[in-house]
Amino acid sequence: MPSKFPTALDALQHVWGYTAFRSLQAQAIDHVVAGGDALVLMPTGGGKSLCFQIPALLRDGVGIVVSPLIALMQDQVAALRELGLRAAFLNSTLDASEARAVQRAAHMGELDLLYMAPERLLSDSGLALLADLRIALFAIDEAHCVSQWGHDFRPEYGQLAILRERWPEVPRVALTATADEPTRREIVQRLLHDGTEFVSSFDRPNIRYRVVEKRDGRAQLLQFIRTEHAHDCGVVYCLSRNTVEEVAEMLSGHGLRALPYHAGLPAATRAAHLRRFLDEDGIIMVATIAFGMGIDKPDVRFVAHLDMPKSIEGYFQETGRAGRDGLPATAWMAYGLQDVVQQRRLIELSDADDAYKRLSTAKLDSMLALAEAADCRRVRLLAYFGETSTPCGNCDNCLNPPQLIDATEAAQKLLSTIYRCRQASGTSFAASHIIDVLRGKRTEKTERHGHHGLSTFGIGADLSETDWRLLLRQLAAQRLIEVDAAHFNVLHLTEASRVVLKGQQRIHLKHREPGSERRRRSSSG
Ligand code: ADP
Ligand code: ZN
Repeated sequence: MPSKFPTALDALQHVWGYTAFRSLQAQAIDHVVAGGDALVLMPTGGGKSLCFQIPALLRDGVGIVVSPLIALMQDQVAALRELGLRAAFLNSTLDASEARAVQRAAHMGELDLLYMAPERLLSDSGLALLADLRIALFAIDEAHCVSQWGHDFRPEYGQLAILRERWPEVPRVALTATADEPTRREIVQRLLHDGTEFVSSFDRPNIRYRVVEKRDGRAQLLQFIRTEHAHDCGVVYCLSRNTVEEVAEMLSGHGLRALPYHAGLPAATRAAHLRRFLDEDGIIMVATIAFGMGIDKPDVRFVAHLDMPKSIEGYFQETGRAGRDGLPATAWMAYGLQDVVQQRRLIELSDADDAYKRLSTAKLDSMLALAEAADCRRVRLLAYFGETSTPCGNCDNCLNPPQLIDATEAAQKLLSTIYRCRQASGTSFAASHIIDVLRGKRTEKTERHGHHGLSTFGIGADLSETDWRLLLRQLAAQRLIEVDAAHFNVLHLTEASRVVLKGQQRIHLKHREPGSERRRRSSSG
């Protein structure tokens, strides 16, 4: 059956009611309509869906959309039907007779788009169904799930290579909002043939990035929301379900409209909280990362992280849920030594193989470098996704450049104190004791171990405890110190520590006057 629409623009205007394509959409669509394979890389909210929906309308047959997210699938199908298109999905939420009805419609050529969960598509019955259909294209949404390097690896996605083998003549569109260079290569290699890439900028200029020193994270969060986003809609991400519930309670206790969301809550509660978040104004969703994939709410004014994400992809995707309407929004994160320790520990304890652990560690190190950065955060973020840019003027480091102090000597003092304490007592010590020794503070413990007699006792009295902790965190982030989470967070030197002790690597400490960013912003309007 020939398309009802002579051109892609025609479909855009008549079905969606939009006047023009966004950058790259038109090119990607033309390429796929002509039968080419495409990798479409656009940030969330960038308009990826049209890049397969319109070609599916223009080409003969039904467009098969593989999507890992059931909720997203249902939303998209509902939206398409709303527009008058013939769309359906096949996933585990359908009962047998509903599934049969969808299959019948597909056979009769009554569908423009059919969404399928990957395991459904790959099942014998799924493949048998497809074998009988005239297929306009395959769209593989969230294509980064194919990559082991990606942070969302799904084994079924690896098997989608079968699409290329069985239907070599049907164009494939792989879409994702998160893919660094290695992931990109993997997607093309596993899913596509020629793999023309359509990559739009990942910059979200309206999002202001900010990382604060975590002292009392929850109090800082409350303060941040009250002073900057008092009545705004936002998302607060925490690592654990427990923290989610406690933080939601804490915020509610202070009169904010906060709701918890994590996979451990009953489905009905989750659905109810999601509805309120979408329908009401000014709801703060406190959530684990289970929340948000595919959630499209335009006026989220802030995304806060109480725990550091384990990769830049995760950070970008989560913060990307802020400010989809293009209006100013804040990405705020509290970050401390515990984040370094915790994330390293999670990798260590996971039962993944060594290669995966090395990968996770590399990703974590990139994230740590972003958190520790003293220069433009956006430049670093974009560089991670392969884009070069210039300082943005809309992140904490641009707005309030931290002072860089040469802390090489301080780092040497810190490292030698760790060394001497261990040498003297035959055991390692945690940060608080090491800092006491450095600052020359006599405690029961320094007495007991005779550490007040060490040559390094008191050599660091010129720096505050906070400064020492800052330095320590920075050294830990760079692996110049190891924090042993399995043993009371005691500190060990590493191979790399030597380089600093020998004076072969200089260490710079980032120093920011507390509160100066706020003052500066209010004075500059
Ligand atoms: P993504 O899948 O990349 O996150 P979507 O495809 O869901 O993004 O698009 C995000 C929003 O932008 C949707 O509301 C969509 O209808 C809208 N949109 C997409 N393309 C255009 C366009 N050319 N003109 C206007 N709005 C558009
Ligand atoms: Zn910047």
